Amino acid sequence: MELVRHWIDNQHYDGVPERRGEVYNPATGLVRAEVAFASVAEVDAGVASASAAFPGWRDTPVTRRAKIMFEFRDLVDKHMDDLAKLLTAEHGKTLDDARGEVTRGLEVIEFATGMPHLVKGEFSEQVSTGVDTYTIKQPLGVVAGITPFNFPAMVPMWMYPIAVAAGNTFVLKPSEKDPSVAMLAAELLAEAGVPPGVLNVIHGDKVAVDRLLGHPDVKAVSFVGSTPVARHVYSTGTANGKRVQALAGAKNHMIVLPDADMDLAADAAVSAAYGSAGERCMAISVVVAVGDAADKLVPMVEERMAKLSIAPGDEPGAEMGPLITGAHRDKVAGYVDAGVDEGATLVKDGRGFAPQGFEDGFWVGPTLFDNVTTDMSIYRDEIFGPVLSVVRSDSYEAAIKMINDNPWGNGTAVFTNDGGAARKFQNEIEVGMVGINLPIPVPLGFYSFGGWKDSNYGDHDIYGPDGVNFYTRQKVVIARWPEPIHRGVDLGFPTNQ
Ligand code: NAD
Repeated sequence: MELVRHWIDNQHYDGVPERRGEVYNPATGLVRAEVAFASVAEVDAGVASASAAFPGWRDTPVTRRAKIMFEFRDLVDKHMDDLAKLLTAEHGKTLDDARGEVTRGLEVIEFATGMPHLVKGEFSEQVSTGVDTYTIKQPLGVVAGITPFNFPAMVPMWMYPIAVAAGNTFVLKPSEKDPSVAMLAAELLAEAGVPPGVLNVIHGDKVAVDRLLGHPDVKAVSFVGSTPVARHVYSTGTANGKRVQALAGAKNHMIVLPDADMDLAADAAVSAAYGSAGERCMAISVVVAVGDAADKLVPMVEERMAKLSIAPGDEPGAEMGPLITGAHRDKVAGYVDAGVDEGATLVKDGRGFAPQGFEDGFWVGPTLFDNVTTDMSIYRDEIFGPVLSVVRSDSYEAAIKMINDNPWGNGTAVFTNDGGAARKFQNEIEVGMVGINLPIPVPLGFYSFGGWKDSNYGDHDIYGPDGVNFYTRQKVVIARWPEPIHRGVDLGFPTNQ
């Protein structure tokens, strides 16, 4: 059985792990590998390596760091299919979707190649007689990233390309459920030319995470994952004096107004609800249909669902694959039970579905509920599976209020042909990422990604300009050269004389 090991100093760590976890192929339900679970001492070894690498890496010219990012960009592009295959084997998403995920990571690497421009400071000449003021952006030191299972290539790439290009060294703790793709990417970064210790990968569970949160040499933590763990990471990390960004769970609503292009809305609802089996933090899990929109939309959604190809992700033509684990499949199916018990109308039931020959895999078919109300658990909780709820709303105002009252605020969308209605939405909606006639508003790498409310703890969004700000700190220098004016002792506060 293959063992996925830690990556320290640009090599596989050869210690024998005290604890290990199983990595499944979700389509078959079979164990495909084991993964080492780090002890506190192993986390410390990863952090020590990153600490040792930091001074040399910080002082490596930013142009040289950017050049390595260009190399890395080319290697990731060249190995796109290898990364996608590994991703599909452990996550289950389709190969096309896996390639799309790597491409979105690549965009952030491309952004990081511009680091010489991104860390430029400001300069003001002659702010006082003979005095200039300027700012410089410096790296923080060792920073850590803790990432979820659902984007095992992209989410780590939201973090370390920017952190590393800005001169930090990085310790990544990927999801223990699909750890291999992060390893291949780390090998490619080493091949691109980063010195040992600049990116270390430590595998494991809460033991590893909690040690990173408590380690005195870790200056900042980027986290992406579920809301309860995000809260723990944010409160523990900040209590320990670290800079923390913690992106969390979601319940994304899509409003469909009666004037919308219903074909467009039905296509979007099906794509955004069932893509990657609903295991996306930007998946649409609630359609809020205003007025009589639901009467038209629900049959159109049902018709499209019937044509979806649900199959192992590496099969040609597959559009939706399995869920990540057996436990998660049972949890999702449990929500479908609850929706029925709570009185929602089950239009299409995905429970018990499995493609022929893959009965032991972790499958739930696309599921659709109508007449869902906001007190039901299928509305309140993040299901993170292929379950779409339709809530009927009498008015646009009530639909907007429903979204604003929801504790999460990651992504949302409105479907309408009325520009005024769309403008009202973008103005009033309390959600961080907004789509207009577009269901999954994930910004490109040169913007930043981040939800509001319980979807994001901390002051920084991730990647893009906010990513650069997160991984650097600003220093202001006030300089007087070369002939100081000697004014003698003056205990007054300096002014601009
Ligand atoms: P998760 O919170 O279970 O795990 C995320 C990371 O935290 C993993 O590395 C895991 O090992 C670690 N972890 C798990 N339990 C822990 C604990 N008790 N203490 C310390 N560390 C712990 O999340 P997941 O199931 O891997 O991912 C799915 C979740 O991530 C969903 O809620 C989804 O919405 C969210 N997500 C959010 C975004 C976003 O940008 N907002 C993006 C992707 C995923």
